[in-house]
Amino acid sequence: MTLRLRFAPSPTGYLHVGGARTALFNWLLAKKERGVLVLRIEDTDRERSSEEHTQAILHGMEWLGVTWDEGPFFQSQGLERHKAAAISLLELGQAYRDFSTPEEAARDRKEEVETGRRTRRARERADAMSQEEVAARIDAGDTFAIRFRVPDGETAWKDSVHGESRFRNEEIDDLVILRSNGTPTYNLAVVSDDAEMGITLVLRGDDHISNTPKQILLHEALGNPVPSFAHVPLILGPDGKRLSKRHGATAVGDYEKEGILPEAMSNFLALLGWSPGDDREVFSREGLVEAFSLERVLKKSSVFDFKKLQGLNGQHLAQTPTEELLEPVKRRLSERGLLTGDPHQTAVSLPFLVDLLKVRARTVEDLLDQAEPYFRDELDYDPKAVKKQWSKDPEGTADRLERLQESLADVPWDQESLEEVSRGLAEEMEIGAGKLFQPLRLALTGSSASPGIFDVLVLLGRERSLERVERAVNILRSGTLPME
Ligand code: GLU
Repeated sequence: MTLRLRFAPSPTGYLHVGGARTALFNWLLAKKERGVLVLRIEDTDRERSSEEHTQAILHGMEWLGVTWDEGPFFQSQGLERHKAAAISLLELGQAYRDFSTPEEAARDRKEEVETGRRTRRARERADAMSQEEVAARIDAGDTFAIRFRVPDGETAWKDSVHGESRFRNEEIDDLVILRSNGTPTYNLAVVSDDAEMGITLVLRGDDHISNTPKQILLHEALGNPVPSFAHVPLILGPDGKRLSKRHGATAVGDYEKEGILPEAMSNFLALLGWSPGDDREVFSREGLVEAFSLERVLKKSSVFDFKKLQGLNGQHLAQTPTEELLEPVKRRLSERGLLTGDPHQTAVSLPFLVDLLKVRARTVEDLLDQAEPYFRDELDYDPKAVKKQWSKDPEGTADRLERLQESLADVPWDQESLEEVSRGLAEEMEIGAGKLFQPLRLALTGSSASPGIFDVLVLLGRERSLERVERAVNILRSGTLPME
């Protein structure tokens, strides 16, 4: 039998980390088992659902590379079918009309709280009514909800993550399936849709576990084949509480904006609640499909660790072919106002720069921060680096940089020649190469971290490099160092 899965987000918010992980696990399993993934937008809460959220969810899935085989279907389109299911349960005697007044309902609730058990008073009142009475109240225009008659006994299923799971039915409320305003409730709509779509495995978050026995009972009452269930554990924030907006960005779109790569996000999400069973951490999407299995989904919650996401992103960034990064980098450089058409900038080879920086950056944003000094001639000298590299001996440093400037004036501008001449000069001056290269790095980039110094010189070109060295010499001789 073909495995049929579904992802069923409610468009009442953006695609958040938990939803994205559910989507990803469904996708991974569908790919792995050559199953079918159905996308169903659960838009029955008309007030809180919006087109904007639907679009954001679709976009987030597309960005993550989570594709679906059927849909998107909209739950609201199944309204008539949902109602028909409620009516048929009524006709089968598996549901009843609840004419309770608000006062009665409040009293029932109070009694249940006080006694700590389901008293099923609404059911008693319904059963005590004759057919004539029911007909008379309907004729009189009294409204009623339809409640499911939860049978005695217990409801058990073999959860693919948690194993044998069971609920005593006496703990389950006779849930409303059709509200008095004629709208179906969540559990009824889901059951009707899952059956209609031939879903064989419901894979979703732990927060739905308490709905599962209700849904199983509804499927059984309707004579549907009951799907299997798998509940993936919650995602927690670093403080051990359920991940929420309090912990910072939880919408997948925010990570896209921060320059996280979709491959890294998928990798990270997969490891939130699943483990390959060995110490591998970096997975391509194909690698995930190959390694994924429901057996290795963890039973306990996992903690969302942003540093880990950044670390994984750095590793994916380093492995991404430079050609794929050129477009996004160019676009973001322009957004930052750094690609200005200045003739100086044409000397910077973007592919070379990206090659050098992608292995040093954790995110695309970080890569851009590191790229700034190659596109902007005013440098913000890092005060810490100035203190360390320039402030101890400004005159001596100025002398050394000046000598370097002179030696480099006629050198062919390639890494080998630059290295030969500068190392030769350090030897001649009887100083360690670092003593020359670190102050030079600061002069060229404004910071103490950059790719290899000869690569930096080549990137900037002769003219700009020598200009920056000269500027550094002037600053060093001026007596006022930019240390604040
Ligand atoms: N629409 C529900 C939600 O977003 C999911 C329902 C389900 O997976 O059964 O939480």
